[in-house]
Amino acid sequence: MSSVDKNDKHQQRFAALQQRFFETLPSKTALMLEQYQKLAAGEHTAFTELIAISHQLSGSCGTFRLPELGQLARQVEQLALSIQHKTPLDSTQRTRLEAAVAAFEHQMQQVMTAGAAASESRVITRQEPEQIWLLLDNSSLSDELTNQLSAFGYPLQVFTSYQGCLQSLSSQSPALLYCSASLDAGGSQLFDQHQLLMVMQDKRIPWMLFSDQDSFSLRVQAARHHAQAFYVSPLDVPAMLGRISDIVEQQAEAGGRVCVMDDDTLLAEHFALTLQTAGIDCQVLLDPESMIADILQHQPELVLLDLHMPTYSGPELAGVIRQYEAFKSLPIVFLSAEQDKAQQLKAMAFGADDFLTKPISDAQLVKAVQVRLQRSRELKNLIVKDSLTGLMKHSAIKEAAVLEYQRAKRSGNTFCLVMVDIDHFKSVNDRFGHAMGDLVITTLATLLQKRIRRTDKAGRYGGEEFLLVLPECASEDALQLIQSILDSFNTIVFHSSAQDFACSFSAGIACSSQGFDDAESMLAQADGKLYQAKSLGRNRVLA
Ligand code: GH3
Ligand code: MG
Ligand code: MG
Repeated sequence: MSSVDKNDKHQQRFAALQQRFFETLPSKTALMLEQYQKLAAGEHTAFTELIAISHQLSGSCGTFRLPELGQLARQVEQLALSIQHKTPLDSTQRTRLEAAVAAFEHQMQQVMTAGAAASESRVITRQEPEQIWLLLDNSSLSDELTNQLSAFGYPLQVFTSYQGCLQSLSSQSPALLYCSASLDAGGSQLFDQHQLLMVMQDKRIPWMLFSDQDSFSLRVQAARHHAQAFYVSPLDVPAMLGRISDIVEQQAEAGGRVCVMDDDTLLAEHFALTLQTAGIDCQVLLDPESMIADILQHQPELVLLDLHMPTYSGPELAGVIRQYEAFKSLPIVFLSAEQDKAQQLKAMAFGADDFLTKPISDAQLVKAVQVRLQRSRELKNLIVKDSLTGLMKHSAIKEAAVLEYQRAKRSGNTFCLVMVDIDHFKSVNDRFGHAMGDLVITTLATLLQKRIRRTDKAGRYGGEEFLLVLPECASEDALQLIQSILDSFNTIVFHSSAQDFACSFSAGIACSSQGFDDAESMLAQADGKLYQAKSLGRNRVLA
């Protein structure tokens, strides 16, 4: 689906959600009136309900583009809060409350007769970068790059003129542009292509410069136009591939996964939709009691929790989430109409990380979530990522295997663990040096990361040993995937001053359908299969 279609669809869903909210307004208002009437008749317990309904309305009206109505609901809430412990109500208090409720009802009727509030455009555009574009007229280099990049599964498009690339940019955007500093054997220069450079900048397209010669002025020009890297001939392809993969993965990650829980389900759906429009995968948690299972399933990077909910409060649920070892560092953000700073701080003592106040505009919500996702990702990367390969460290990937074991046990889904080890790696170090050895490790890491699904996980288990966690994957599928990765790895050529060479690996697969008592014994099985693959001659995958 193109991003235009997606936006249309999102807009339709927004409109539908807003419509449903309008439809619920009269009954919610009636409920508010009913509670007030009970109070007026001396039924003091109605305060709780009155406060709950006006609190909910004060949070949701603003979000559904009715800020005045939200303001009036807040007045009812605050008045009710200030007098709820005074029994019996004196007539002044009763009259003020009556006036506040009447003001809300009056405004609500006006809103209903005015029909839907003016719906402003909600298009938050999101590009869906997929392809890598090569802009090169050196056919032997573009052939080599095409071969090597295809091994990583990147779809490619090759351009041989600046003009052709500019034309395509009017309707599409690549995930990355790899661009030569000059074309037509030096006839046309990239930095003379002002229109092309402007479009690249406007569309914020990540790009790398390739040049036949190194020159300081060219490097300055590249920096001025925000090039992500500068490569000089002869090209170190595996090193460049690592960089490409970093850039593309960064973009893919930019979306992120979030869970949101609010007792006002329409509001929760609205938040989810707003975040989805900005490319964030957001799931609404409906039932507090299945919250942990849902979080295990969705694996969010951030949880948004309403503060006041009828059965369990936000802080109570945050406390429950924090009881699980795996969620110790999961960021939790309260989203609430609570404006009292002291209440906010008290709620944070329960293990939440931050506070957002309702009503919040769509743009603010998206920005606030993106900033927090980015920050928590940076911190997490420092803790869990291996510095050479960018994959998860030993302890983190092992933890992921244990988590997946528990998750699969609950859901009954089948998953696989794969142990991968480079063949005769010691001799790569011995023959071509340790630096070349490092390059082989990072190349395989990049390949693994690129070829697994977004929900799969890859980690560096040891020096030249990797562990993959493949959720919802049967043994045959894992076998096929790893075999095709092995085929690709065989085709990657490493250039050393001594000679060109290629490498292989061996792999062992364990599948949960075979029945294991714990993740440890599953790991032992994968390791056993790997050992078997080695002794059968290496360069093979066994399940
Ligand atoms: P096999 O096919 O049986 O797996 O043989 P192998 O040579 O690959 O395995 P072995 O375990 O004997 O040797 C692994 C070598 O990997 C030993 C170690 O020096 C080297 N190594 C471990 N970590 C790194 C690293 O980060 N960089 C480099 N360059 N070498 C590493
Ligand atoms: Mg090895
Ligand atoms: Mg080894």
